[in-house]
Amino acid sequence: MHEGSELLKKPLRYLKGVGEARAALFRRLGIHVIGDVISHYPRDYEDRSRLKKLVELQDGDQCSFEGIIASGVVVSRPRRGLTVSRVSIRDDTGLINAVWFNKPYLKDQLKPGERYLFFGKVTKRRTFEVLNPVYERIDGSGPVNTCRIIPIYPSTGKLTQNVIRSVIRNALSYAGGSIEDILPGWIRERYDLADVRYSVSNIHFPESDEAFLKARERLVFEELLILQLALMTVRTAPESTESGIVFGAREEVRRFIEGLPFRLTNAQLRVLEEIEQDMESSKVMNRLVQGDVGSGKTIVAVAALVKAAKSGYQGAFMVPTEILAAQHYSSLRELLEPLGLNIALLTGSTGAKDARRILEGISTGEIDIIVGTHALIEDKVVFENLGLVITDEQHRFGVRQRAALGKKGVRPDMLVMTATPIPRTLALILYGDLDISIIDELPPGRKKVLTYAVDSSMRGRVYNFIRKQVAEGRQVYIVCPLVEESDAVEAVSASELAYQLAHKTFSDLKVGLVHGKMRPSEKDDVMKRFISGETDILVSTTVIEVGVNVPNAALMVIENAERFGLSQLHQLRGRVGRSGYQSYCILFNDSKSELARERMKVMTETTDGFVISEKDLELRGPGDFFGTRQHGIPELKIANLYKDMEVLKKAQEAAEILIRDDRLLEAEENRLLGQAVSEKFSGVMNTISMN
Ligand code: ADP
Ligand code: MG
Repeated sequence: MHEGSELLKKPLRYLKGVGEARAALFRRLGIHVIGDVISHYPRDYEDRSRLKKLVELQDGDQCSFEGIIASGVVVSRPRRGLTVSRVSIRDDTGLINAVWFNKPYLKDQLKPGERYLFFGKVTKRRTFEVLNPVYERIDGSGPVNTCRIIPIYPSTGKLTQNVIRSVIRNALSYAGGSIEDILPGWIRERYDLADVRYSVSNIHFPESDEAFLKARERLVFEELLILQLALMTVRTAPESTESGIVFGAREEVRRFIEGLPFRLTNAQLRVLEEIEQDMESSKVMNRLVQGDVGSGKTIVAVAALVKAAKSGYQGAFMVPTEILAAQHYSSLRELLEPLGLNIALLTGSTGAKDARRILEGISTGEIDIIVGTHALIEDKVVFENLGLVITDEQHRFGVRQRAALGKKGVRPDMLVMTATPIPRTLALILYGDLDISIIDELPPGRKKVLTYAVDSSMRGRVYNFIRKQVAEGRQVYIVCPLVEESDAVEAVSASELAYQLAHKTFSDLKVGLVHGKMRPSEKDDVMKRFISGETDILVSTTVIEVGVNVPNAALMVIENAERFGLSQLHQLRGRVGRSGYQSYCILFNDSKSELARERMKVMTETTDGFVISEKDLELRGPGDFFGTRQHGIPELKIANLYKDMEVLKKAQEAAEILIRDDRLLEAEENRLLGQAVSEKFSGVMNTISMN
């Protein structure tokens, strides 16, 4: 919806029924101006459209009816803290009693002889009775809370649904007429989309099921189109005719592969071939490698680095965490120093003296391959001839960071690795400009991680199982609950658990602890001890989630598993099952919520990352944080990327046509759309950033 119109930009207080107190409550929902409240879409609906005459009522009916207050309200107080208000209501066919609890003020509101609409559940005792019915005065503007499909809004406790509904109703009659349609006519025609005013009105107060579906489809389309256009504008730089680097060194790559202690899987070989062809062509490579956890993405990336370095270019490998950077650095050294390549590590915690030396080495070209965190993007990092940029676990990085690293070379090839398998259509939105390679095969000999969801009553047995695993020579991860938005609290809870386990439960075993608040050098030491097998049990926060590789670890226990999303649980579980040992994952879940149980069920039934990510999308609602953290796209107001896949495809098609014909969306009929995109565009750029 276009928000350029003046009325839509006025503060909420312009509306009837909104004073400072209510305006403040709305602000808490992020609603400041009239346009905001109009795009505060319902999260659900209740069908109150059935309207009956009193004579037609039956026991158990839930419906609306119209009637005149036939008697004064009688208030009684059968006990402390309870008031009961009764009134009888009639129409020309019959009579019904209405009863409300703890609403003594009704006495002053419901006046005998006045006509109202009601909605509630009807029961038949001796006479018909309706408990706590919703009621509203009949006036010119039509019913809001009865006799129709009623919207139910996301709210904070203090704003009641009735208030939100009436404010939105007022907003629509005040400013609804000034909403301009931002979709060019040909798009509306081609995709058979409803008009914007009709859609906005029907998304809030649907005239019928069909009207609602039409309205929703149009708004979903618009939202996805804007998102798609915004992403496409950020990513696709104007078609460059200048060509990229042509790499060689096929022979060196082959020798490197043959020197490995294992044979690459067919999937790895296929993907490596795709990469090599890209690198050898003069086109700039922009490729995404998707592969489930443990599918062996790293070695493919390393082979690409060999190709770059042996062709005389530098390679950069950027990863999201220091733990992962350190791990990749040490395995790269092991693999590549024998080939005479010079590897360095640069993170935020690299000491000043080392950093100076490394920066020097990067700028002279003495360093062939640099592994690091987003420290690599800093201005002071200057390459001699950067030829290949690899980002691992891309969903943690923003588009902007990827681009920033790329700018440090002259059209270097780009490779993006992600372990969050996502459905292809979705990949197209998130990585619209990338070619996609998929490693869809695990190295041979891997056994399925056996997964169990248990409640706290099993704690003793789980601890015995940990003991048994350690006795067999395996190692164990215990992941502490996720604490929303506070690394500090998370660190405390992990520390407490580690202390308790180290001093009581497992005082005879070696227990380690790693969390995000530790100094990088401490983290490093802890990880080294775990990798070397010195530590039996590693208690950690989710810092362990990304990419850590300790094949001897065969058991993962996750505390309060219900607090994690499905993709995150899958990532965590991917830390085990990295060797031939039978591995296990135990999920502690005491939550009775349906959603939590559904997630646990998915985890116990499948280990396929693609299935899990589809389920993950399905189980999320549109208002969910889909994206901001996990995939880096802004929160959607109405679209659901799983359920609206069909609309998404159409929006993608439309976006492609638009961009092809009018890249900057400057044509008169595209101007409003262009404006909406640039409003969203700044949002996208801010949200798509590191965590
Ligand atoms: P991910 O895809 O999750 O990043 P990694 O690259 O960390 O997976 O690989 C997981 C483990 O599998 C590593 O220990 C790696 O050495 C090993 N590995 C990779 N490819 C193969 C293969 N073809 N055969 C056997 N082991 C492999
Ligand atoms: Mg990895």
